[in-house]
Amino acid sequence: MFRIRKPIKDIWYITVYHNQLAKWYKGGRHKGIDLRTRTKKHPNGIGTPIYAVADGIWERVRYDYKMGNTVILRHGDHQSVYGHLSKTNYVEGYTGVKAGDCIGYSGDTGVICFGPHLHFEIRKNGISLDPEKFIKAGENLVNWARARAILRVENKGDIKFLVKGGVVDLNQSNCWEIISKNTWGINENDFKNLLNLL
Ligand SMILES: [Zn+2]
Repeated sequence: MFRIRKPIKDIWYITVYHNQLAKWYKGGRHKGIDLRTRTKKHPNGIGTPIYAVADGIWERVRYDYKMGNTVILRHGDHQSVYGHLSKTNYVEGYTGVKAGDCIGYSGDTGVICFGPHLHFEIRKNGISLDPEKFIKAGENLVNWARARAILRVENKGDIKFLVKGGVVDLNQSNCWEIISKNTWGINENDFKNLLNLL
């Protein structure tokens, strides 16, 4: 199961749902979700930071006639798509992206855009799937970990985890061994996903 975090941190308000009837799609249905980007800091909805939803690589950054400045990230089988951006943070030659990296800023570029917002899609084999499903799966895993106190408390340098018995210093090579001994009911795949989400 592909699990993701949210592409916006400061606000969460869906204005158009996946598969919703959308006249501006030539009588078709909306692919992905539209998200409000107006925040206290960015009252006009332009300039709100947009974050990578999972670890991956930069696949495409381009200007699309309909979607404006568009970023496409690849995460194995899946792609995440971010449209109508005012600006992207793509740096020439930089290919890797970590979950939570700021990949650009919201805007109102492209012709199918009635006011600033983020158009967000998850695709697999070129087909757009409901992003909410993957966000829910991510939240479920985080809540599951919270209930068992497997929480990453430090993100920079050494990784520290709150496990039963206290805070443990971990690094990428020993963390799975320690976590698996200190917890129950978690598999290696789930754990790797958790690293992306916390
Ligand atoms: Zn849209």
